[in-house]
Amino acid sequence: MSKPTFVIVGASLTGAKAAEELRAQGFDGRVMLIGAEPERPYERPPLTKDYLRGESAREMAYVHPGGFYEQQEIELVTGVTVTAIDPGASRVTLDGRRTLGYDRLLLATGAEPRRVPVPGADLDGVYYLRTLADCDLLRARLEAGGRVVVVGAGWIGSEFAASARQRGLDVTVLDPQPLPNERIFGREIGAFYRDVHAQHGVDLLLGEGVDSFEGNGAVSRVWTTGGRRIECDFAVAGIGVVPRTGLATDAGLAADNGIAVDDKLRTSAPGIFAAGDVASAWHPLYQRPVRVEHWANALHQGPAAARAMLGQPVSYDHIPYFFSDQYDVGMEYSGYAPQWDEVVFRGDVASGEFLAFWLREGCVVGGMNVNVWDVNEDVQALIRARKPVEVAALTDSGTSLAELAGQPTAGS
Ligand SMILES: Cc1cc2nc3c(=O)[nH]c(=O)nc-3n(C[C@H](O)[C@H](O)[C@H](O)COP(=O)(O)OP(=O)(O)OC[C@H]3O[C@@H](n4cnc5c(N)ncnc54)[C@H](O)[C@@H]3O)c2cc1C
Repeated sequence: MSKPTFVIVGASLTGAKAAEELRAQGFDGRVMLIGAEPERPYERPPLTKDYLRGESAREMAYVHPGGFYEQQEIELVTGVTVTAIDPGASRVTLDGRRTLGYDRLLLATGAEPRRVPVPGADLDGVYYLRTLADCDLLRARLEAGGRVVVVGAGWIGSEFAASARQRGLDVTVLDPQPLPNERIFGREIGAFYRDVHAQHGVDLLLGEGVDSFEGNGAVSRVWTTGGRRIECDFAVAGIGVVPRTGLATDAGLAADNGIAVDDKLRTSAPGIFAAGDVASAWHPLYQRPVRVEHWANALHQGPAAARAMLGQPVSYDHIPYFFSDQYDVGMEYSGYAPQWDEVVFRGDVASGEFLAFWLREGCVVGGMNVNVWDVNEDVQALIRARKPVEVAALTDSGTSLAELAGQPTAGS
C-alpha cells in the first residue's frame, strides 16, 4: 500500500512548523509544503525590526536552517500557487495546470495587507509591508533616507515608524483614531505609545486619515482627510490585513472572517484543516471563534494542526499572545478582550516599565507587560483562572501574580 500524502498550502511559519511536527511525530508519508513566495519559510517579525534596519542578516529570518527540508524529506515547493481545491476528489491544482492528490490538506495561506482605497494609492512609492521582498525594497528606502508618511498607527505602522526614525528619516504617522490602537487597548496604552513616538521625533497626525496620494508617477505628497498636505519621498500603509480565504471559499468551505475550523482545526470539509492567520478557530476557553494574526499563534497552531491531521487528540486552547518592539520599548500582550470594564496598572506608566490588566466583571481578560519580563506565564494563568481578583492586590508590585492566579509558587 502506498504511503499517504499530506499537503500543506502556504510555506510560512504555520506551514513550516506543521511540516516539522509531522516528522517529529513520526509520520513517514509524503509531506509537501507548497508556497507562492520564492523564499523558503521565514519569520515576519524581523521585517519591521532588525532586518528592516539592516542590523541582522537575511539568514536569521528563516524558520529553519538551509538543508532542513531535504534532511526531513519535506518536499518544499516554492514559487507555486495552489489555485483550486477539489474536496470531493481530494485533489489540489497547482498554478492552474497540474493536480495533486492528498490524504490530508492543511490550509496555512495567512493574510495579506488591506489596500488603501483612495486616489493615488497605486502610485510608485506607496508601499505595503508583508513579505521579505516588500521589506527589501523598504530596507533600501531607509538606507537612502528622506521623508516617509506612514498610514496607520497599528503595530506594523508603529514598528515601521520606529525603525525609520532609528535610521534617521523624517517620519509622519497618520491615523483616524485619536490615539494609536485605542480601539483595542484603550486610552492609557494609546497615549503611552503616542508619547513614545513623539519623544522619538515622530510627527503624529492623529484623528486624520489619508485622503489621497499625489505625485508625478511616484508619490511625492499625501493629502489628509483634515486637508493637510504632507510632502514625502515615499509612503507606507499599514491599515490591517485580511485573511486569504479565497481558495477555501471557492471550494465551498465555510468561512467567516477566516476559514472556519473547530478546536481540532478541522474545516467544514473532511480531511482539510486550517491554521495560522487564515483560521477562525473555535476557542474552548472563550466559547467562540477567534482568529489570531500573531506569530505565536502560527508557531503553535501549525503543529497542533499537524497532530490533528495525524488523528491525535487536539483541542487548541492557547491564549492569544503577541509581542512588539519599538525603540527601547519591548512589550508582550496576552488575552482576548474585545470588551473590558477598566484597565488597571502595576507600576508607573510614565516610567516605561509597567504591567496593564484589562478587567471584565472583576476578572483579568488581558494583560500587557512593558519592559518587564518573565511575567507572561503568570499573566496567562491569571486569565485562564477566570476568577475575580482584587484590584489592590493586582496593582501592588509586592503581590505575587502566580499566587493571585492560584498557582503554586516557590516555597508554597
Ligand atoms: C512585517 C510583519 C511584522 C510582524 N511582527 C510581529 C510581531 O512583532 N509580533 C507578532 O506577534 N506577530 C507579528 N507579525 C505577525 C506574524 O508574522 C503572522 O501572524 C505570521 O506570519 C502568520 O503566519 P502564517 O504562516 O499563518 O501566514 P503568513 O505569514 O501570511 O503566510 C502565508 C503564506 O502562504 C502563502 N500562500 C497564500 N496563498 C497561497 C496559495 N494559494 N498557494 C501557495 N501559497 C500560498 C503566502 O504567499 C504566504 O507565504 C508580523 C507580521 C508582519 C507582516
